Amino acid sequence: MSRTLLKNALLVTGARTGEGSILIEDGKISSIAFYDSGETIPDIPSVPSEDLGGLAVMPGAVDIHVHFREPGLTHKGDIASGSRAALMGGVTSFVDMPNTIPPTTDGAALEEKYRIASAKSLANYGFHIGATSSNIMEIKRLCSQSPESFGGIKVFLGSSTGNMLLNDCSALDALFSIKGKCILIHSEDENIIKYNMAKAVSAYGDAVPFTLHPLIRSREACIKSTADALERAMRLGTRLHVLHVSTAEEVDLIRTAKGYNQGITAETTAGYLLFSDEDYPALGPFLKCNPAIKSPRDREALRDALRDGTIDTIGSDHAPHLKEEKLRPYTSCPSGVPSVGDSLHALLAVAAQDGIPLGRIAEVMSETPARILGIKGKGQLKEGFDADFVVLDPDAVSVPDASDSPCGWTPYEGMTLKGRIHSVWLAGEKAVSNGNIISRPLASRLSFIRSDQFQ
Ligand SMILES: [Zn+2]
Repeated sequence: MSRTLLKNALLVTGARTGEGSILIEDGKISSIAFYDSGETIPDIPSVPSEDLGGLAVMPGAVDIHVHFREPGLTHKGDIASGSRAALMGGVTSFVDMPNTIPPTTDGAALEEKYRIASAKSLANYGFHIGATSSNIMEIKRLCSQSPESFGGIKVFLGSSTGNMLLNDCSALDALFSIKGKCILIHSEDENIIKYNMAKAVSAYGDAVPFTLHPLIRSREACIKSTADALERAMRLGTRLHVLHVSTAEEVDLIRTAKGYNQGITAETTAGYLLFSDEDYPALGPFLKCNPAIKSPRDREALRDALRDGTIDTIGSDHAPHLKEEKLRPYTSCPSGVPSVGDSLHALLAVAAQDGIPLGRIAEVMSETPARILGIKGKGQLKEGFDADFVVLDPDAVSVPDASDSPCGWTPYEGMTLKGRIHSVWLAGEKAVSNGNIISRPLASRLSFIRSDQFQ
């Protein structure tokens, strides 16, 4: 049996944070002790131990919203480079989105992704399935025959990279009636966007100023789409996760809807908490993402929502594109930014600015995303769970470097973020130490329990 004792750590969980020790046995947490409760785990001479000297131990981040671009778009990024950036940034598990080529819309495409990831992923890997207007029977088959094989069902209510738009009412009703699996939505109203886009193009041609991005992918487009989806989820009792919420009005709608359907949850990304539309003049294409980043007022509302629990999870929405693709005129510049490696640092910076406790970070980045998808053994510092951790000094400054990003740039470049990562552990083994991969990470395939059966 392989055993390791981590002692004098600041153990960070949603429920409690305090000094303590963790005993790892065969890749799992076998015992956890909080000193302030008088608990200890005695040293055993034959068991190697590491004194962490008060460094924080958090459950490894579980990022359920990444676009690693493989297969089919690997000039932008791939599972190897994406999972490497993830691991270096404290993300030990990821669930990748279906807008690849071919799109992940059936069991065969799903298994092909697992096959690729098993050979090259450096972090634990899982995949969502994508909904189209023609694959609902296949999704229902997978839900009943192999619910453990995919995270959730991704629906693009507004178009983005990969053209997987689905906004047909009867297909959405059928989809939102599925039980036991989470529906994750990209929520923007396609008709409003199309109208705004046509207006901008008639005024500017291809060279639409990037400052208009939040007026084209407008707040009205987000609000209308999210209001419709919430209405449908309340009516049909859907397990709905609203991705990358970007406006104050959506926060209010979600807060209210949760009172009627407790299966409604919401995500935002660190980008919407740190940037605002005032950053478009300086960052232009490098902040072009969908939904657009909105006003400082929205940013404040999202920060309040993170604190009060209306926002349940932080995903990165890591969506790499080449620099030369980003330098094209507005109409051909793809939307999306790389972020999987910066997400935890960015969130720690927000937490430091707003006085948000570390335990809340563990909740939104690890515990709740794992629970929402029913990921077996992941996301918690708890006996019996997998020993996937990030060990860090949360107060130390972190300055993102473009060379660490898989596509060679990051909107966070040069910003003062927080959290120096000392080590990252996967299945009880130290995989990253002081910014270097020191052993082949013990990455494995995620397994999903039906979300209505997960405690
Ligand atoms: Zn996305």
